[in-house]
Amino acid sequence: MISVKNIKKTYTNGDIETHVLKGINLEVKTGEFLAIMGKSGAGKSTLMYQMSILDEPTSGEILIDGVDILSLSIKEKTEFRLNKLGYVFQDYALLPELTAVENIMIPLLMRGLDTDLAKKRAMEALADVGLSHRLNNLPSQLSGGEQQRVSIARAVAQDPIILFADEPTANLDSVSSTHIIDVLREINKRGQTIIMVTHEKEYTHKCNRIIYLEDGLIIREERLRD
Ligand code: ADP
Repeated sequence: MISVKNIKKTYTNGDIETHVLKGINLEVKTGEFLAIMGKSGAGKSTLMYQMSILDEPTSGEILIDGVDILSLSIKEKTEFRLNKLGYVFQDYALLPELTAVENIMIPLLMRGLDTDLAKKRAMEALADVGLSHRLNNLPSQLSGGEQQRVSIARAVAQDPIILFADEPTANLDSVSSTHIIDVLREINKRGQTIIMVTHEKEYTHKCNRIIYLEDGLIIREERLRD
């Protein structure tokens, strides 16, 4: 599904070079729920950004679904992101003036679905995350956990080949965080490949595999289930 070969990422500010990723090799299989763990500053978000085509590594190779991502044009990359990848961010990134169901419909409409079908799919996605009773609420009328569930529903409604979640529980209390992880696991059980960054071990026990990052390198990995 995704194959990362010797990825390096160096930031250059004037004379100062910061080597953030120092040669990452990683294979993720279809249907995996992978956690990327490590302390703050280890390079987790940077790695996620390279794999999810939100940034470009200094060197290395990334294959997703057989496509050599770094050889694509800017336009092709944008289309690949829009059509094939799903994103969940720690701050939910919902549009504040739109309701839950409208937030999910927007990217579907952008992909050319007609309004009725987009609405049907958005409502199904909200039902999947247990929010059928919150269809017409604005983000400001939802708790943090509910907003994050809307953002997961928005990503999953696009039927992405990989769902990337960057610290999805960072702004939530432990009850809401556990709920979010349960929702992700349920989605994963239906076959969705998920790659999640977290620095909290307690939220990794539903994953298949954990890779530990330290100072820009994978230092070990742990397999929890096949
Ligand atoms: P994590 O997600 O594990 O907390 P990050 O990937 O966010 O770590 O950052 C890893 C390191 O890269 C940090 O030391 C950070 O300061 C550095 N870094 C991130 N972005 C930049 C940048 N644009 N320029 C220079 N250094 C950066």
